[in-house]
Parts: sequence; C-alpha cells; structure tokens
Amino acid sequence: MALFITSLNSGSNGNCYYVGNDREAVLVDAGISCREIEKRMANLHLPIACVKALFISHEHTDHISGAAVLSRKYKLPVYITPATLKHARIHIDKSLQHTFTANEPVTIGGISVTPFAKYHDATDPFSFMVEHNGIKVGVITDIGKVCDRVIHYFRQCHACFLESNYDDKMLEEGGYPIFLKQRIRGGNGHLSNAQALELFLKHKPPFMTHLLLSHLSKHNNCPELVQNLFMKHARQTNIIVASRYQETEVYTITKSTEEFVTVELPEIIMPVINATVQLSLFS
Ligand SMILES: [Zn+2]
Ligand SMILES: [Zn+2]
Repeated sequence: MALFITSLNSGSNGNCYYVGNDREAVLVDAGISCREIEKRMANLHLPIACVKALFISHEHTDHISGAAVLSRKYKLPVYITPATLKHARIHIDKSLQHTFTANEPVTIGGISVTPFAKYHDATDPFSFMVEHNGIKVGVITDIGKVCDRVIHYFRQCHACFLESNYDDKMLEEGGYPIFLKQRIRGGNGHLSNAQALELFLKHKPPFMTHLLLSHLSKHNNCPELVQNLFMKHARQTNIIVASRYQETEVYTITKSTEEFVTVELPEIIMPVINATVQLSLFS
C-alpha cells in the first residue's frame, strides 16, 4: 500500500505532477506538452494507461498547455472548474469535462483528490491533496501566502509538493520591473523560500517523509540554495528540489512507522500514570 509520486516538470515553464497507486494515477496540471509527458513517464516506466484523470489547478499557461492534447489523445477526464475552463481557452471534449467543489473529495478508483482554494492571481485557483489508504500527498504551488487551509492540509501530508518560488534578496535585487516584483510577493503571487521554510518548520507533521520543493523561479532562486536551506532542518524528511528541466525520480510514499496516535487512558488510572501514552502504530 503506497503512493508513487514524481514531478514531471516544475516551474514557470511548465508544471505536471504525478501521484498514483499500483493501479491508477492522477496528474495535477499538464503545463508541458503531451509528448514530453509521454516521454518523461516512459523514462520512469510509468504507464500512461494508469492515468485516469487530470486535475487543473488554475488557468495559467504553465499549468494547462498540454491539457487539451493529452485529454483528446487518451480520452482523459479533466477536472477543472467552469471559471478556470472559460479563462483557460482550451478545448476539452464536453464528455471529458468534470468540475469539482472546494473541500469535497473526488474519487478516482482507489484514490481521492480533495481540492482546496488558494491565494493566487488566477480566476478560481486550487491546491490539492491526493489520498490513498490514508497516505496523503499535497500539491501546493502557485500560492501567494500560507493561509489556514494550506496549514490544515500540509499538517496531514506524508509527502508534499510545496512551492518555494523565490529568494527575497534575489527578487529584490534582480532585474524584474517593480510591478512584477510586487505581483510575485504581493500575497496573490508566489511563495518565497522563507515562507515555505516557515510552514515546514512550524507545521511539518512528524510522519512527513518527502518534501518536494517546487515551482522555483529561474531568475530569482537557485536549486542549491533551496536544497541547503531546507536540508539544515530536514531531520528525517527527504528534501528534493523539483527541476524545471526534467522529471524527478519516482518516490514511494508509505505510512511511516513513526506515526503516533495519542491514546487517552481511562480516568481511573490517570492519576497513577498522570499522562497520555503515545503508542506507535506499525502498519
Ligand atoms: Zn505556475
Ligand atoms: Zn500561476
């Protein structure tokens, strides 16, 4: 019982994230061409026939550019809200169009996908949590800030694709025009390394095994910088920086043996033990 995950590409030049169990999978976003998706999945020995649905987070080109061809070629159902579809200006066959509602899980075989609204300068933007047998993987990129919803879902994740878009200093001192700098860091744009790290430090659950830092800016960030920044605080979590040029390897996400459950003791023995006992669940 595991989820297998990979970033097929991550960044402002295209995003596509794969999450699947041993039978079926979903893609979140298709911002690279259908041909590249096919090629990169083949490199990883992931059969495209396993992909049962495509979820679209928002209408920016780096999240949708391959969606129409992929859907048409493989008769792939596309989960996209009507507002996003309208602004995306892509053609998805009516029979393959599906919508979703915030915080209501969509079931795809043995996988469930829960969308939740995010702050981003798009029409109707969403992040997702993908779940199979209690194993949860977050796909949280293109967020202007860490809101309560992000914290709520991040705290449940065994693995997470989390945006770490820019280094404050590099953005400030870089060549972007001021309006673009404001757009990026203004609360409806992208998440900085510092903001991502703060989320990780404050809210990382003890059972999170993989953090995939995603959607790094080409001009305002540096993969080594992000890797080093998070590695210092990683403890038992694997830190991976998703590339804007190629697929990552496939990571296997299982339930950690270090997950704990708090068991309340019956009142009668509480004064003796005077504590709650944490039992390790080996599953
Ligand atoms: Zn994007
Ligand atoms: Zn975007």
